[in-house]
Amino acid sequence: MTSHSDSQSYVFEPGPRPSLPVRGLSLRFPVHRIYCVGRNYAAHAIEMGHDPDREEPFFFQKNPDNLILDGSFPYPDKSEDVHFEIEMVVALHEGGKDISPDQALDHVYGYAVGLDMTRRDLQGQAKKAGRPWEIGKAFECSAPCSAIVPAAAIGHPAKGRVSLTVNGELRQDGDLSQLIWKVPEMIAYLSGLFTLQPGDLIFSGTPAGVGPVQRGERLHGVVAPVGELSVEVT
Ligand code: MN
Repeated sequence: MTSHSDSQSYVFEPGPRPSLPVRGLSLRFPVHRIYCVGRNYAAHAIEMGHDPDREEPFFFQKNPDNLILDGSFPYPDKSEDVHFEIEMVVALHEGGKDISPDQALDHVYGYAVGLDMTRRDLQGQAKKAGRPWEIGKAFECSAPCSAIVPAAAIGHPAKGRVSLTVNGELRQDGDLSQLIWKVPEMIAYLSGLFTLQPGDLIFSGTPAGVGPVQRGERLHGVVAPVGELSVEVT
């Protein structure tokens, strides 16, 4: 049934590798890790009760199998306060350690529009207790994401509107030019802490205006130079 020797067999058949479609190509982008930048827009840091002049952005992670495409976002268990965060997503096709900022964009395959969905109540409890954030950030379906748009098609956007509406009403409104850490800086910084790999995604942070969602609401996010993403909360 299999050509593997006993020592090469898996205990059970591994699942498929998480991946995203690529806009305009019949190829999929295989995802390795998902890094997320926290407090990368000053106005959002302030709305969360932090002083962007005193605290630098930082990273946390989601799981690659938390990704879902546009369509429906199932409201998660154990939370009464699930928030949207619209973000530009950076997709790497080359990895490395200690990448310099001026080489960093060579590692970028393309960009996508993502939502860093957050169980804000559980994240808040974790923050207060000095505990990790996974229960607030890395739950099932917590990372809705569009297809990846190759940089070959759109370049490397450094400015452009980042916005989100809920049932047509504007809730988040910012611009990529307001990122505290620009894309080359986030790649350089991350690559000093981790060995980056092809397939890594970076959620680049969210502008001000985050807030709660309810079942039945429709979220529509736009990163103007990249594209859009629509999900209904179910
Ligand atoms: Mn975020």
